[in-house]
Amino acid sequence: MENVQIIQCDTCGGPAYAEQQLEGFFCSYCENLMPWSSYSITNMSFRHRPIIRVDDLWKLTHVGLPEETVKDPRHPDELEKRTSDTNALLAALDPRTAETWETREWISFPCPNCGATITGYSTQSVFECAYCKNKSMPEEVFQSGKYQQDLVFGYDFNMYDLALPFTITEEAAKKQMLELASRHPGLFKGQDIAQRLETDLQAYYLPYRLEDISLKATVDTEKGKFTTYHERINWALPSSTTLDIYLLNELHPWDFGSVSPFTAAFLEGDVRIFAPVNNEERKSALRRLLWRETPPLIKDAFGLNKVKLLSWNYDFRRHTYAYLNLPIWFLDKQAESSSSDLQISMAVNGQTGKAAVLFLQGDKMDEIRVLEAEQQVEMSSERSMVSPPVRIEYVKSPFLYRKLTGLEQKSNLGRLFGRFKR
Ligand SMILES: [Zn+2]
Ligand SMILES: [Zn+2]
Repeated sequence: MENVQIIQCDTCGGPAYAEQQLEGFFCSYCENLMPWSSYSITNMSFRHRPIIRVDDLWKLTHVGLPEETVKDPRHPDELEKRTSDTNALLAALDPRTAETWETREWISFPCPNCGATITGYSTQSVFECAYCKNKSMPEEVFQSGKYQQDLVFGYDFNMYDLALPFTITEEAAKKQMLELASRHPGLFKGQDIAQRLETDLQAYYLPYRLEDISLKATVDTEKGKFTTYHERINWALPSSTTLDIYLLNELHPWDFGSVSPFTAAFLEGDVRIFAPVNNEERKSALRRLLWRETPPLIKDAFGLNKVKLLSWNYDFRRHTYAYLNLPIWFLDKQAESSSSDLQISMAVNGQTGKAAVLFLQGDKMDEIRVLEAEQQVEMSSERSMVSPPVRIEYVKSPFLYRKLTGLEQKSNLGRLFGRFKR
């Protein structure tokens, strides 16, 4: 199968696929046609599957099987893990690496180029001289080309060898977090975020895998039951679940057009790296994210107040080169806070600057707020995108559905998956 070209629909934000007959990109969700002439397309690296149209119907074979009843997919100990101390979780995940990080030192040595003093953490592999900007690394790292042992959380050899580079500096990440905090003064009352940012802000490379996800779901609402369909294209799913997956999922969209080879040994700055971990939490992450995020998506799209997932059927397609590390600035909840306290953790997309905050207080509060990037840059077509959910109805075999209109549908999806360019 050829690569299927895709761009983001300039009307609804969903995926629009190249269609030879129409001489343009066609969005099946809002029926917008964008002629070829308006778009210059760069090299396409990922393969996507368009919606197949048969006359006026959509052929949804991939989600055509009978829907299964939706059950709460959260693990019994999920809340306990989400509210417990991250360092303890890291120590459980990889005791040696956790200890290396806990006992790391702030070191200084003369710059081999100009003699000025270079400072940094003992866990770093590349140091930059603040004076002459020369970069240096410890001889043993340079000679072996290997990152120092016990610095990658998880099994080092599993680490993904692609990454998106950090473009957001530490200062810019702090600024975004402070701005986000200033917008919710009530919730941040008594939290000295500025102080915590000085000591606790940490850069992470976290492993993700890219999927195209399709979800057909039947919901009950105050305006009756109906079935919806939506897609998430170029969606990054966590391959390590130690940090809060719901908070980090709010950092979408990412632009995968700038993916580049990744070698920890030549990584600059003070960044914690994770290898993927195969466990139950990782396996259930997609289901848990869809369970949490689909009802608000449908509420927003149709202007509803009550949406309950009844049954669903989803499909995911992994990209050929699907595995990469994403750059994330993370401010953990206050150390030694307990689950009865209001715990605040924050994250910033290290590529775009989009910020998110999680307010978690035991089973009393579990809310996320976001702040879009300060400067919105244009993304390539290989960015994450979400289609608007549409109402569909089964018509006939084989797996043919009709798209329905009628229930008020807003084109602006708002909070979660807003289009990047507005
Ligand atoms: Zn559209
Ligand atoms: Zn120097």
